[in-house]
This record gives sequence, C-alpha cells and structure tokens, in this order.
Amino acid sequence: MLRFAERISLIKPSATIAITDKANKLRKAGKKICVLAAGEPDFDTPDHIKKAAIHAINEGKTKYTAVDGTYELKEAIISKLKRDNDLQYEPDQICVGAGAKQVLFNLFMATVDYGDEIIIPAPYWVSYVDMVSLFGGIPVVIECIENFKLTPELLKQNITDKTKWLIINSPNNPSGTVYTYDELKNIAQVLLEYPHVNIVTDDIYEHIVYDIKFFTIAQVEPLLYDRVFVVNGVSKAYAMTGWRIGYIAGNRRAIEAISMLQSQSTSNPNSIAQAAAIEALNGDHSFLQERTRIFKSRRDFVVEQLSKAPWLSFSVPQGAFYMFISCEGLLGMQTKAGTVIYNDLDFTEYLLASHSVAVVPGTAFGMKDFIRISYAASYPQLEVGCNSVIRACQEVS
Ligand code: PLP
Repeated sequence: MLRFAERISLIKPSATIAITDKANKLRKAGKKICVLAAGEPDFDTPDHIKKAAIHAINEGKTKYTAVDGTYELKEAIISKLKRDNDLQYEPDQICVGAGAKQVLFNLFMATVDYGDEIIIPAPYWVSYVDMVSLFGGIPVVIECIENFKLTPELLKQNITDKTKWLIINSPNNPSGTVYTYDELKNIAQVLLEYPHVNIVTDDIYEHIVYDIKFFTIAQVEPLLYDRVFVVNGVSKAYAMTGWRIGYIAGNRRAIEAISMLQSQSTSNPNSIAQAAAIEALNGDHSFLQERTRIFKSRRDFVVEQLSKAPWLSFSVPQGAFYMFISCEGLLGMQTKAGTVIYNDLDFTEYLLASHSVAVVPGTAFGMKDFIRISYAASYPQLEVGCNSVIRACQEVS
C-alpha cells in the first residue's frame, strides 16, 4: 500500500470547498440550497479582458514564457504598484504565479524553516495556516477580538526571536475589515523595532472597499520597504478567479528563490491568462466603480436583513464581500428538532440541513462561534438566504 509523506497529515482541505461540496451533494439529491459561501465575485470577466486573451491566442502567444512572467506583464504590474500604491519596483523584484495562492505558497516554501514562527492575525484566510504548517513553520494565531484588527500591543506581545513573518490581509477575508492609514502606521512603528520580522501583505481585495481608502503597509512606512512582500492578483477585482494570475513584489533575492522554485514545479503561469492580465491592469477600469457600488448596496441589504435575526451580532464590513457574524448568542439553544447548538459548526450544520442555506463556520478562519456569509450573490439569492437565516434563528429556543 502507498504510504503518504508525513507532511500530508499537516494540512486539511479548504473549509469553503468542503461546504460547497456538501451543498452540491444536497442539490444533486434534489434539495434547493442557497449557497452564501462563494469566495469569488459572481460577475463575469469584462469583455475587453476576454478579447485580449482571444487576441493573444490568435497571435500565437501559446508557448512557454519566462518562468516568473512576461516582461510586458511585469511592466503592467510595476505601473499598477506605482499608480495605486506609490511603490517602486524593478522587473527582477516581481514574480507572477498561478494566483495569489501560488505565490504565497512559494514564498513560504522558500523562506519557512522548522520552528520559524509566523504571526497570523485571526480571523484569517483559511490557507495561511496550512501553508505555513506544511513547511514546518509554527502558526502564531492572534485572535483579534477588537474590530477583528491586530493592535500594536498584541503584535508586540507575540513577537519572539523566532518570528519570521507577520501576515497582513486588508481588506480581510473573512471579516471585511480594512486597516486605516493610522492603524498601519502604528503597526509599522512596532515592526521597526524588530528588524528580523518580515511582512507579507495580501492585498487581493484592494479594490473592493466602501467609504474608506485602501493603504498597504510599505506605502505607509517606506522604511519597511525592504522587508515587505506585496501579494496581489487579478482574481477578485477583475472577476478572473479561473484565469489564475497573481503576483508578488519584494526583495530581489527572495523573488529569485521563489522563481527558481516555480521553475521546478509549474514553470510559467498560463501565457494567455498573462496577456489578459496585462489588459486588466492597463485597460479601462471604469467598471470597477460600478461593481464596487453593487457590492456595497448588497452589503447594505444583507446588513439590514440580518439585523432582524435574533441572537446574531455583527459589525458592518468595509471591504471584500464577506460578513463575519457572531452566533455566540444562540449557543446552548435547541432547534425545533431538539438538537442543541453547541458551536459554530453545529449552527452551520443546522442552517444547511434544516434551512437549506450554506455558510462557512468561523472555526475555519481561526475564530469559533462565528459564521461567514458571502454576499457575492444575486439579490434574489441574498433575500432567500437572509430569510432562511432569520427563520433559523427565530426557531431556536
Ligand atoms: N488571499 C485571500 C485573502 C483570498 O481570500 C484568496 C481567495 O479566496 C486568495 C488570497 C487567493 O487568490 P487567488 O485566486 O489569486 O489565488
């Protein structure tokens, strides 16, 4: 029998995918399920981007490219980082991969050794902990109770000699919180005291913000420039999750190591998707405003609806397309069927089995007794989903 490598026991499948699979099984069995668990925009990739891909195919851009991305795409990324974030990079400081996920994976594979500590503020995106664990790193998870944000005090308390990375993700998946300029500046002041700590900032939701300006930490504190790795991509803003293009910018020696790893695994990211990403970054951006306006009005709708749900509590998210909702108020209560809800896993199970709505338990994001709702869904879906959640809450006692 094939024996697996020990490292495979260190990771688990993504909770978001697990819940979607469960919902799909129920659907196949004939049940109508409302899925509010999507981690991607429900919009289509804009036409001008699709056309750029078709043009690339017709032009024969169907061969291997440079492992770390075409020169033209790197130029587009450099212009983007200058234009939006006031950050200056050279082509050898950029590596393009198959999504932000792959470049993060490569970054940790290239830098994390056994016993290295990685500070991960919770709630966090599900993959950070698994990636870090896979390479022998120790995830130092900090539960951020106050507004779901890391404070300078909490950061300071958790830095040790072994700290290698701090991960910042703003706007945050799953909470939708966005760090202000001042909050990042205060975190940066702590980091300046600890030169051995490197920072990876996952800016993938940069363009999906409501009534707040986005900042990234290297822009706020230029003295951190050499220690900060900026991760971004085209998945969320441009509705291009399936195209698989993400990138990382930072210290050239580390970028060289990441590219080397990529050369021995996937080689270059898809050549046609790279051509499309150039158009996404350089082309017309007017649709972004309209899409953000739609996300914001959906957020307002869900906030209004769910404030009618007894026992639940939440704060209004300022970015991304998620709400992180506390279900602590109903723990210990009984459903109509007599089942006691002890935790967020029981609650999500109850929502799915008895009220046909799929959401993700907070435990998957490092904070129990919460659920994550995605509002990247149509109004009719959101209405059905919210009504089901409200009814589910009214029916416990
Ligand atoms: N980072 C965060 C916080 C995410 O939520 C996601 C996707 O859900 C990713 C990274 C991965 O993005 P990509 O599609 O570019 O791999």
